[in-house]
Amino acid sequence: MYDIVVVGAGASGMVAAISAKSLKPSLKVVLVEALPRVGKKILATGNGRCNLTNLTANAQSYNTSAVSFVLKEQSPKRIVGFFSSIGLECTADSESRVYPMSNTATSVLDCLRFELERLGIEVLTDTKITSVKKTNGIFILNSSIRCKRLILSTGGKASPSQGSDGSGYPLLQSLEHTVTPLYPGLVQLTVKENVKTLKGVRVKADVSLKTTSGKSLDLSSGEVLFTDYGLSGIAVMDVSRSVENHGCVCNLNIIPELSEDGIVDFIMRSKKRNSTLLLEDALSGIVPKKLGHFLIKKTELRSNIALAELKFQQITRLAEMLKALSFTVTGTKGFDNAQITVGGADVDEFDMSTLESKINKGLYCTGELLDVDSPCGGFNLQWAWASGIVAGKSAAQSL
Ligand SMILES: Cc1cc2nc3c(=O)[nH]c(=O)nc-3n(C[C@H](O)[C@H](O)[C@H](O)COP(=O)(O)OP(=O)(O)OC[C@H]3O[C@@H](n4cnc5c(N)ncnc54)[C@H](O)[C@@H]3O)c2cc1C
Repeated sequence: MYDIVVVGAGASGMVAAISAKSLKPSLKVVLVEALPRVGKKILATGNGRCNLTNLTANAQSYNTSAVSFVLKEQSPKRIVGFFSSIGLECTADSESRVYPMSNTATSVLDCLRFELERLGIEVLTDTKITSVKKTNGIFILNSSIRCKRLILSTGGKASPSQGSDGSGYPLLQSLEHTVTPLYPGLVQLTVKENVKTLKGVRVKADVSLKTTSGKSLDLSSGEVLFTDYGLSGIAVMDVSRSVENHGCVCNLNIIPELSEDGIVDFIMRSKKRNSTLLLEDALSGIVPKKLGHFLIKKTELRSNIALAELKFQQITRLAEMLKALSFTVTGTKGFDNAQITVGGADVDEFDMSTLESKINKGLYCTGELLDVDSPCGGFNLQWAWASGIVAGKSAAQSL
């Protein structure tokens, strides 16, 4: 019989086991993982660099204020301190995103693995938990693993090749918990328009996601990357959580630096300076050439039109389009390509200061399995570490 079983050796599960065992070394703690190795997803985070937290993270960074207590208790600074205490030094970039000083995610995983070993935490790999029952206050997993406290840290459904295949949800449901509707988040968008010619073009844009009837769903700013199927880049991924099942439209303000009048003025000045210049060549002064081509085609102008031939109305039409280039969203690239899951275990069913279930005493839940999500930038891992530490501590303290 174990004191504590942690299911899922991802970001939150590993720190949950570490914090429980650090607090009470005499406890029998086991970390159970479906894959042959622990922490596989950590290696893929931050493009292999692991953006492990963001110094600006607070309750407003998330979809729910229920995270407040945990984030105050385990602030980004405390998380950086936790990693320092296990041998990992970090550094922040100009946008407060924190990375390991070594600039590689391997260091983050190594420090966690060495700490698990140092504390003598048992790790069972290649062990997928498919059932859980509670009898006389004891949890029984896969009909054989028994424990007094159970911490579910199985992650969501995003990026199943990294182990998070959604198998935690039925476990929670079998313990009478509600799972809110699930959608892929931080994921690329597919669009109706043919954007193949724009593949590889990157712009800094303001992104606005609206329903087809014009109701605003989400806003963001930053990098947009065109792909052969649609739109990617951090600013697009950040609004993707709001696509859900809506038919929607994604508007890009390709030149946030200039007003519509400013763009008109730019083209008029170019025309005055050199009226024989082709429009596509003039536009390359403000947007990548491929995008200029795309806009000219979209406004149904001749591809080799010269500035001298442009009517004022056509110039204002181009300016309007640069400020609100519109794409019809047909969907997302789905859970296989998503970085996170939107939705999850209903947070109202948990005491959000200990992460213990209000329905089933002795059950705790961490990380992405809960209905908590946030934009790119280190916020999701911040939640994973913070919730893992709080759940691990709370479970150990209760024994
Ligand atoms: C490509 C990619 C890049 C990302 N980059 C960043 C980033 O730079 N910064 C950031 O903040 N966030 C990033 N994220 C998001 C972040 O990785 C997750 O939010 C975070 O890992 C969630 O932690 P978790 O512990 O809840 O779940 P996970 O890390 O997903 O871990 C869950 C673990 O549970 C195991 N498991 C699942 N079901 C079972 C079961 N039934 N039995 C046993 N074990 C099971 C899985 O194999 C897995 O090891 C990224 C995500 C992806 C996919």
